[in-house]
Amino acid sequence: MLIKAGVDISRLRPEIRKKLNTIAGIVDAIFGDEIVITSTFEGNHSPGSLHYANLAVDIRRTDKSDTVCQVIRQELGSNYDVISEHNHIHIEYDPK
Ligand SMILES: [Zn+2]
Repeated sequence: MLIKAGVDISRLRPEIRKKLNTIAGIVDAIFGDEIVITSTFEGNHSPGSLHYANLAVDIRRTDKSDTVCQVIRQELGSNYDVISEHNHIHIEYDPK
């Protein structure tokens, strides 16, 4: 797992932080790729975004991202949202 320069994962709440290794492991096992965390609370997000509650991360897109999204979504279950965005994958803890 790589972390983009300037990105701080230390404030992430356990609900999302403890899943990072799970996500990294599954993406490596299935796709042979290392995930890159590109944003946590910093950067520009919508007002009210769970990024500001330290419950969301973005990871860099690759050409396999649509499949990666499906796999992560399945692995994390319904308490997490995994959204394919324009230039990243957004993952947040948002229990229903
Ligand atoms: Zn995001």
